[in-house]
Parts: sequence; structure tokens; C-alpha cells
Amino acid sequence: MYNLIVIGAGLYGAVVAHQAKVHGLRCLVLERRQHVGGNIRDEWMDGICVHQYGAHIFHTDNEMVWLFMNRFCRFVPYIHTVLARAGRKLYHLPFNLSTFYDVYGVLHPDGAAEMLEREFRKEYYEHPRNLEEKAVSLIGRTLYELLIKGYTEKQWGKKATELSPELINRLPVRDTFDNRYFNDRYQGIPEEGYSRMIEKMLDGIEVRTGVDFLENRDYWITQAKEIVYTGTVDELMDYRLGELGYRSLRFETERLEMSNYQGMAVINETGADVPYTRTIEHKHFYYNNSTSHTIVTREYPMAWKPGREPYYAINDKRNGHLYDEYCRLIRAVYPSIRLGGRLGCYQYYDMDDVVAKALQEATLNYQIN
Ligand code: UDP
Repeated sequence: MYNLIVIGAGLYGAVVAHQAKVHGLRCLVLERRQHVGGNIRDEWMDGICVHQYGAHIFHTDNEMVWLFMNRFCRFVPYIHTVLARAGRKLYHLPFNLSTFYDVYGVLHPDGAAEMLEREFRKEYYEHPRNLEEKAVSLIGRTLYELLIKGYTEKQWGKKATELSPELINRLPVRDTFDNRYFNDRYQGIPEEGYSRMIEKMLDGIEVRTGVDFLENRDYWITQAKEIVYTGTVDELMDYRLGELGYRSLRFETERLEMSNYQGMAVINETGADVPYTRTIEHKHFYYNNSTSHTIVTREYPMAWKPGREPYYAINDKRNGHLYDEYCRLIRAVYPSIRLGGRLGCYQYYDMDDVVAKALQEATLNYQIN
């Protein structure tokens, strides 16, 4: 009998399992894929660390989370910057004076403020009801149409007028020439990769890969006092209340016999005519990687259906209610199950949110101070 079975060896599951072990609990981790790491998994391929399920840059303002992570890896300094291609031009993101210089040629903060004033006089929403209205009221219609509309609509597979305004909160708007993608104080990439980091977290813990908890859930539930489940809740309950909405992705990765393909780690494609949202050149997550070849991945958003990987929760009203109903059902049918992680909580969490929640879960439930 275990004290705890953790379903899913992604970041959330690994942190919870680690904390449980540290505090003397007998813990088992079940992972249905053949490997640990969940969607932060990476693999070294001929001198280049390739992110298998989309680019992951660790960034946080939470000192406790940062110190915790540093126990399992050394972070190499990496400051994430992004260029966005629209037509034949590249623009700086997130929106800052460099973007205003790229688009309008303005050279100083006053120039950018004037351009925005002019745009807002034409169109501005005090209480934006959707992503389009929110974006237009943040950076004006010109920049919205150039850099947001196409990207957002292909990423989510919906019109920007049907999307929640909060989705755009992730993109800061600055009145400086600061091109850093994230505002956070701490940022970096694990020197040996995320997979190695997760393996260190799981060191000394019984982990069974290639085991699908759902195929045998009634058995596993008898094997532990508590279960922490990090998968999707609708699948856990056999979709009996209906499917939640997710967005899926498809990745196309290729090796190129050149040392430098695009000169940076991520270039976004904002045009509706380009079917992928970004091109990742993995070697640039580590400065000074001198391999003579390179590896690039293109990220194609895709509709989700059962059997495909769910990457993003689609947090609208209907799904919010349905998720709450699933939670009620799970509490009634499986009282020993607690939910966690991006999928289990049906939230658009960043990695640091996931770690913070996992530490909190452990503190609350295993009397850790
Ligand atoms: N976004 C955009 N254009 C870009 C990059 C981002 O319009 O070139 C918007 C888009 O609505 C997206 C949101 O900003 O859904 C968050 O983007 P981010 O790159 O943070 O998404 P993630 O890396 O989490 O997939």
C-alpha cells in the first residue's frame, strides 16, 4: 500500500512526488508515456537540446520557486526575446518602443504615446468584451491587425472576437526599448535540459512508465490512500458529462546542415496565410552553441479530439462550468483523488505557477512547513 500515487510524471507530478518522498511518504508515480517529463520533455540530439512538445523557457518572480528549481539543475542564463514576422518584415515583441520604431519609425516614448493616442481616438473600449477589443484598446487597431489577429486566431482556432480578453494579458506593453519577452526577475534554461531535471526530482521514487492509470483505475485506487491526478478530468470520467475544450498542436522538426538558420530561438508567424505559429531553433536557447548543424521545429495549432494531445485548456464560460461539474463528480465518485497541473486544473499555467501549486499541494496535505 502506498501513501500516495501520482498520475503523470510531468512537472507537477514530479514536484509533488519529490516533496512526498522528502517527507517520508511511500509514493508511486504512474506515467502512460514511455518517458517522464510530460510536455517539458527535451532530448539531446547530436549536441542540441530539442524541446519535444514546444519551447519552454523557465521564468519566475517567485523566489521560493526559483530556489526550489535550482536544487535540481543549474540554469544557464537565457533571456527570451521574440521576433514576429508579418509579410516580409520582422517586428519586435512584446510591444515596446522597438515595435513602435519598426512600425511607425518613432524614435522616443512621446512619439509612441502620440501614435497610440491617435489610434485610441479612432477606436477604444473602456470595458473590452473580447480579445479583439482588449488588444485594440492596448496597442491600437494597426498593431493588432499586424501582429495579433492572425496569430491569435490560428493559435486558438477561433475568431478574436470570440476569445476571452484575458488571454492577451500574457503580453506586456512597454514604453522602453526593453525587448525581453518576460518581465520576471529570474529566467533561464536547465543546463542539462528539463528531462534531466525531472529525473533528478524523481530520483529514489518508484516510477512506472508506459502504465495507463485509466486502464486500471479501480485497481490503482485501492493501492493508495491518496491519488494526485494530473491528466484531463473529462477523460478520467469517461467524458460522461461531455468533452471539455482543448487546443492541440503538431510539431514538425527537421535537422538542417547549417550552423544558424534564423539567428534566434523563436520567430513567430503572425500571418493568417502561414499555417504554423512559430519556428523554434533549439540551439539558440543556449548561447554559443557551436554545432555545425541546427534543428528547427515548426509549431502548428490543431483542433483537439480524444486521442490527440491536449496542450491548452480553452477557458471560456461553457468549459468553466463543465470543469466545475467534473470536479464535483470526481469528489463524489473518487474522494481520494486530488487534481493538479495544467490539465488537472484546466488552467493556462506557466511552469512556475505549476511548481508553486505543487509545493502548496504538498505543504497543505503532507504537513510540510
Ligand atoms: N500573441 C500574438 N502574437 C504573437 C505572440 C502572442 O497575438 O506574436 C498573443 C496570442 O493571443 C497568444 C497570447 O499572445 O495567445 C499569448 O502568447 P504566448 O506566446 O505567451 O503563448 P504560449 O507561449 O503560452 O503559447
